[in-house]
Amino acid sequence: MIVGIDLGTTNSAIGIWRGDGPELIPNRLGDLLTPSAVSVSDSGEILVGMAARERQSTHSDQTVTAFKRLMGTQQSVQLHGQTYTAEDLSALVLRSLKADAETFLGEKVEEAVITVPAYFNDRQRKATRRAGELAGLEVKRLVNEPTAAALAYGIHQLDEEQPFLVFDLGGGTFDVSIVEIMDGIIEVRASAGDNRLGGEDFNDILVQLGRDRFDPEGKLSVGRSSQFCELLRAAAERTRRSLTEAESATLSIVWDGEMLSTDIEAAEYEERAKALIERLREPVLRSLRDSRIKAEELSEVLLVGGATRMPIVRRAVTRMFGRFPNTKLDPDQAVALGAAVQAGLKAKDKALDEIRLTDVCPFTLGIEVAERDGSGGIRDGVFSPIIERNTVVPASRVETYSNMHAGQRQIGVAIYQGEARQVAGNVKLGEISVPVPPGPAGSVTIDCRFSYDASGLLEVDVTVPKTGAVHQLVIVDDDEAPSEAELDARRRRLAALKFHPREDAPNIAALARAERCFEMFLGDRRDYVGHLLSTFRNVIDGQDPREIEAARKELEASLDELEGERFL
Ligand code: ADP
Ligand code: MG
Repeated sequence: MIVGIDLGTTNSAIGIWRGDGPELIPNRLGDLLTPSAVSVSDSGEILVGMAARERQSTHSDQTVTAFKRLMGTQQSVQLHGQTYTAEDLSALVLRSLKADAETFLGEKVEEAVITVPAYFNDRQRKATRRAGELAGLEVKRLVNEPTAAALAYGIHQLDEEQPFLVFDLGGGTFDVSIVEIMDGIIEVRASAGDNRLGGEDFNDILVQLGRDRFDPEGKLSVGRSSQFCELLRAAAERTRRSLTEAESATLSIVWDGEMLSTDIEAAEYEERAKALIERLREPVLRSLRDSRIKAEELSEVLLVGGATRMPIVRRAVTRMFGRFPNTKLDPDQAVALGAAVQAGLKAKDKALDEIRLTDVCPFTLGIEVAERDGSGGIRDGVFSPIIERNTVVPASRVETYSNMHAGQRQIGVAIYQGEARQVAGNVKLGEISVPVPPGPAGSVTIDCRFSYDASGLLEVDVTVPKTGAVHQLVIVDDDEAPSEAELDARRRRLAALKFHPREDAPNIAALARAERCFEMFLGDRRDYVGHLLSTFRNVIDGQDPREIEAARKELEASLDELEGERFL
């Protein structure tokens, strides 16, 4: 069974192809979305999903979220004395999704299609694939998120003739793709995006507002991850969601036994968010330019990603395209549903027989070269593209380069990704030094072949025609990348972690939420939550599953009444 997984910054989801359509699988709490959050309990047990996210403000030093932003880096976090990289944490989320799917389906799940932001670079993609492997999944393919969303939409629109645009603004990333459907081929014409733009950045605006008002002298908010900022961030998320529905909302936290509270007008927030909104334009314009499609030719602008629910984003999109966007797709589910369709395609399901998908590489890949300028001097650090952005993948291209200096015995090949003319403005992916026979300047050549596969992973071969030697590039990332043995050891380490028993998850999540509410409120409301907590704990001690379930539902209903519905 191949599953499709949307491994998001904020939320993740897992689905399968059912023969007549994609379907998402509910987790142990019955939710289709699982927060991408990991926490460790006081007794050292791992919590994943809602229970973990509820602990974010109450146990901030034992909880991590938004780790997708660190994917492909060596940065790590400490939880309960153990070190975790973003890859490990993602693996824990994937493991949890896999376990939920196995319970739901009643069979083993060993293969997966996982989505990544189109703009994820080679390192980030490889890290995602490794996270899958660490979770015990064979990753059959990585799919770009907007492409997956296009697939979810496209399989119902196979007669659509005009191109459409997918506008995906999630918790941490922004992706745009222009897609065309012809004779059953769903073809991505161009993709562009911003790897560092999403709902979290909009939260930061409210966090900043809160800091200005609650802590004008900057005494409490030392460091971004202080408990004060963590509390503000959680409150900001709530406030921002309220601003989706109302013209004003309150931002409040309890600090040092005192309620700090301020009213925020939508207009004021939106004024401050203008700079972020402005950043949505460039990727849209670039994707239109690259695909040579005019905005008027688009049949639809599809909104994907939870952050597109913000009215300010919807208005910006309407202004940009001169029409209302299509909001038919569920912004939270489209990517996972598309991943499930891709899983069906991978499994060669009959119903999908006529459908093909072609994608593009969203950025340019090339190497660093030196050039002679007009006056005979040498200009270093120039970027020479080999695969241009928005080339249809899989793609393989060769370029030939020659030695700069007579007698040179080595030619350095440094691989970069990006659009800048100077390599300094691009992302370095790796480097190799190729031995060459000495000869006059310009007489010794090397052939650089770049192969880019359907998952967006790059391979580089350098051939020296004079000697016939072939060198496979050791990408920096591969250098640092773990060997099979190391991977095995890491897999074992993750598997050996103590996990909370599955059946307990709903209770743990409800308790974590109640504890958060206890810290969030003061006075009568706090007493009330305290009372709810003790009552529920007593029922749990009684160990009667039916009573526990009934009491939990009651607790959840009371909390819904107090703070508004729990959100994913
Ligand atoms: P990701 O793909 O990064 O996991 P999602 O597509 O799940 O992200 O979107 C998560 C983002 O959507 C969060 O930043 C969240 O604040 C935002 N979001 C979800 N619902 C709303 C809402 N009603 N109003 C404003 N923002 C929302
Ligand atoms: Mg997403």
